[in-house]
Amino acid sequence: MHNWRFPPEYDQRSLELLETALSSVSGYRSWQAFDPGPAYPVDRRYASMPALKKKDIREHTPEGFVPSGCDPKTGLASGEISLVKTSGTTDVSVTNIWYQPWWDAAERASWKLNSYAENLATGSHPEAILSNPMNVGIISDEIDLPMEKRRLARFLYLNEKSDPLTWSPAFMDRMERELDSFQPVLLEANPSLLAKLCRYLAATGQKVYQPGLIVFTYEYPTLLQIKQIQKVFRCPLASSYGSTETGYVFMQCEAGKFHQNVESCRVDFQPLKKEHGGPDIGRILVTTFNNPWYYMLRFDVGDLVRLDSEGKCDCGRDSGIILSAVEGRTLSATLTCDGKLVTLRQADTVLSALDGIDEYRLEQTDKCDYDLYLVSSRRDRKRLEAEAAGALQKLFGTQARITFYYEKALAPETSGKYCYAKARFPIDIEEYLQ
Ligand SMILES: [Zn+2]
Repeated sequence: MHNWRFPPEYDQRSLELLETALSSVSGYRSWQAFDPGPAYPVDRRYASMPALKKKDIREHTPEGFVPSGCDPKTGLASGEISLVKTSGTTDVSVTNIWYQPWWDAAERASWKLNSYAENLATGSHPEAILSNPMNVGIISDEIDLPMEKRRLARFLYLNEKSDPLTWSPAFMDRMERELDSFQPVLLEANPSLLAKLCRYLAATGQKVYQPGLIVFTYEYPTLLQIKQIQKVFRCPLASSYGSTETGYVFMQCEAGKFHQNVESCRVDFQPLKKEHGGPDIGRILVTTFNNPWYYMLRFDVGDLVRLDSEGKCDCGRDSGIILSAVEGRTLSATLTCDGKLVTLRQADTVLSALDGIDEYRLEQTDKCDYDLYLVSSRRDRKRLEAEAAGALQKLFGTQARITFYYEKALAPETSGKYCYAKARFPIDIEEYLQ
């Protein structure tokens, strides 16, 4: 059992949020029935509540999560808040209420959890963003936008194309030149896109401007991508973990572990059953603090994480939950042939270790059947396949059948984000929780 330390105001904030949500936020009216009441400790009351899903936000509309004292019509009309739709299929897309001061404060609080970010990020520092414009930035698929059209406040968006498969060498040369002339202190990047740029820069032997820190957001960074990025960038790397709904939840410190952003959110951890990786691996539900306009309680971000078994970190930070790793999307979980849950991180550890591959995606099609899509310039494919099959059978079971497919490049999902592993049948994570 871990004894995480929390700041003194943490329980009080959690309590106030819960009571306001139950009494005056219509989206949580049905949750009143789950509340054991004020006589019980706050953690117990939270643990009695359901998880909030994207489908709940769609059903109640985002206005259903505004407390009764605030009028979303007035807020929208004055521009204090706005509506933000996340990209993707109707399955994953949701409209949220966006309150910029809350987001900015959560981001600033997260910087304190990494010494490089804390020293470099002033709030007015130049920052380059290499993202899919479907997630953040300006989309222009038809024409290339000049640099000044991709500037916004202190930001420069390096990419305006929603499909990274359309990037030409000239387009990637432009990114390299712009990094050099813009000189960002921080580079924030989808790891998939930065790895793609780095494969090109490494292959063409180009030197590139080095920012003070690279922060990964939006996607899980695979070990393969990190290797490719470190061939080109020598600066420190850190993963920032969060979502549109929850803001900045965990930040990777300079020692490599993930610290909870206790100033801006509460995190409830639900362990998996022992045979599926529990009690250290589990799901997290996030409750946001300090957002007067939008109450997210026990929001299921859809990710699995691994608690740090030591419960401490070399950096000395000791406030909140410490993770040794983010394990990846629950949608990226697969199963061994005998039905044990395999997280993306566990699959990635095996697949990223393969020699001579640029990209991979693993799809489980049936109980013992797995399709492996590879981008590789290796000519000895039989040998590559034997290596990959051997490694995957160690993870999934000796009965695992692997079918190989070769591609020139892999495309992102309709959400604009990459998926590296998934089962082509539903896995209900609730069944795997303790
Ligand atoms: Zn640390």
